[in-house]
Amino acid sequence: MEIFEKIGDAASKTYKYTAEKTSKIAKETKKKMEISDYKKNINEIYLEIGETVYEKYVTDQELNLEELLEKCTRIQELSDKIAECKNEILKLNERKQCKNCYQEIEITANYCPNCGFEQERVNQEETQEEVQDETEDEEEIVEEEKDENKNKEKK
Ligand SMILES: [Zn+2]
Repeated sequence: MEIFEKIGDAASKTYKYTAEKTSKIAKETKKKMEISDYKKNINEIYLEIGETVYEKYVTDQELNLEELLEKCTRIQELSDKIAECKNEILKLNERKQCKNCYQEIEITANYCPNCGFEQERVNQEETQEEVQDETEDEEEIVEEEKDENKNKEKK
């Protein structure tokens, strides 16, 4: 009897792992699509800037950078969003980027293995809460794990 229980346990663990992995891949794909949308947007604005500059040249007008300011700010905003998406993808894979040398490193690393730069401490509970949002089915399990962590911290 016991052996069957063990098999069942192993099977549900595999299922849990697969579901988690699938949701991660889906999230990553979504983020990658978001990034490519932002990049497309940026290229459109580049085109607009180019057109404006060429128009000025053809009509022999002075180029006023102020006119392009709004477009440049939009590109800046989109670039920030791309950086955010990239960060989220890294987080999904339990990785982060060193702020000093931009090397991809383990999310739990306190020092960069590449350049030795001290990393900002990542709040483990925060990371777990995010995982919790993604996989609502496992909410209870994550909750239990969190309680365990809290108890450990108290000790
Ligand atoms: Zn580094």
